[in-house]
Amino acid sequence: MAFFGIDLGTTFCSVATIDETGRPVSISNEAGSNSTPSCILFDGSDTPVGEVARKQLFVPGANAIGRFKRDMGTSKTYELDGNTLTPTELSCLLLRKLKEDAEKMVGPCGEAVVTIPANFANEAREATLAAARSAGLNVKYIVNEPTAAALYYAFNGDAKVSGNYAIYDLGGGTFDISIVKINGQDVEVLATDGVSKLGGDDFDRALQLVVQKKFLALHGETLDDADFDRNEAEEQKKSLSKRDSVKARVNRKNIELTRSEFEEALSSFIAQTEMLCESALEQAGLEPSDIEAVFLAGGSTRIPLVKESVKRTFNKEPIAGANVDFVVSLGAALYAAHKGDPSKLSSAQRNSIEKMSVEERTSKYFGTLSMDSENARSESRLSNSIIIPKGEVIPCEITKSFSTIQDGQTAVNCKVTESGTPETDPRFVKIIWEGELELPPGRDAGQEVTVTFGYDDNQTMNCRFLDVGSKKETVVDLSPGSAKMDSSNIDKFTVE
Ligand code: ADP
Ligand code: MG
Repeated sequence: MAFFGIDLGTTFCSVATIDETGRPVSISNEAGSNSTPSCILFDGSDTPVGEVARKQLFVPGANAIGRFKRDMGTSKTYELDGNTLTPTELSCLLLRKLKEDAEKMVGPCGEAVVTIPANFANEAREATLAAARSAGLNVKYIVNEPTAAALYYAFNGDAKVSGNYAIYDLGGGTFDISIVKINGQDVEVLATDGVSKLGGDDFDRALQLVVQKKFLALHGETLDDADFDRNEAEEQKKSLSKRDSVKARVNRKNIELTRSEFEEALSSFIAQTEMLCESALEQAGLEPSDIEAVFLAGGSTRIPLVKESVKRTFNKEPIAGANVDFVVSLGAALYAAHKGDPSKLSSAQRNSIEKMSVEERTSKYFGTLSMDSENARSESRLSNSIIIPKGEVIPCEITKSFSTIQDGQTAVNCKVTESGTPETDPRFVKIIWEGELELPPGRDAGQEVTVTFGYDDNQTMNCRFLDVGSKKETVVDLSPGSAKMDSSNIDKFTVE
């Protein structure tokens, strides 16, 4: 039974396993490629997943869908070929295809680890787990993409890697920066930051706009998005990583695009990544000079301007591993073996990962809303109390005490909040769960209610609200509606 590491990317996915000697290796898909586009085409009875679907993605009227990872854990739905599908269901279809293809190459999957962006919200994490399980994968753990990449780099460099490192992951849809401490094969995450909607897709769009503007200036013609579509923009963007200028043929006319024009269009995105790098360094309490090396992950790190920006921010030349497209899945395969049932490993495999350890941290603040008791009577002032801070080592469990504020109070309104910054103002936090804790009648104010939040190894949260006096408890189910999927809705599709 093989261990699978699955990089479930916004634009591309890859699957890896560990070989008999315990080294991580990529697994190719049915079409012979090590990466599978995260696209699905709804085309009557067939549901092709991958390259065929990717080619149709921006074709008007085609029933192709992609980029649904950006909506994981939200209530967004997609109407396709008469079907209504959630991002979780679409991810499930994609994962089924990845599983099927990889199993054809290396045999049945025993345990799998799926990766997620470090700053994925709790709902998106839960939705990813639900999608993987419905796809028939035995997934106990998910791991943050930059952590998986760090594991791979640590493993590859073996004992030579020691000190503080940055993992800079810029893909098609998301940007993640993590500061980690590596000692041999020990990886400890010190800080992480990122933005869930910044990546190659935005760069493709930016290049498309450059072409439209330039075409108008040169030929006086206004272009539609379809005249130079996003797939063409992506191809030209990739060429511009190698060449200073490229020629495109648009509406039977030639147009030249230069790297510097493209770079200018990227400047605000690059500025944003630089700020996030600085913020991650600050959270870790480190200076650029404290970083031994910057490891790259994600296809967009091939862009020369991106490399220059990393070099400028950290004052050193970034390092690209074997292949920036696969470092995440390769690291996830190592993590799967590390976390998996040791009896399923050969002795060579066990030896290879024996020295590995991972210490992960939370990437968001989790709290609850409580009434400020002093102000309760005059002006009811709700405030957000943080229970689990960002940067807390996982797994963790933290309990905080609160008191009831009214005599005869028979219920407490319980809320679980999430935020990227340490907010006290309820207006700036996201409420991810709301419920009630019933209390026995006839008691004075000031009864103790404890709130316990735990964050597991598998990166999901469990919370409970307890009335200490009566031992009554409300246990929170954080899996969002979008994660509770009805597999019959997707069982009708045969993924190809
Ligand atoms: P994700 O994990 O978000 O799916 P990937 O890490 O697979 O993303 O990276 C995909 C992105 O990398 C796409 O936007 C693709 O256009 C971009 N990319 C791949 N190769 C190059 C290149 N040579 N130059 C610029 N961008 C590239
Ligand atoms: Mg990625």
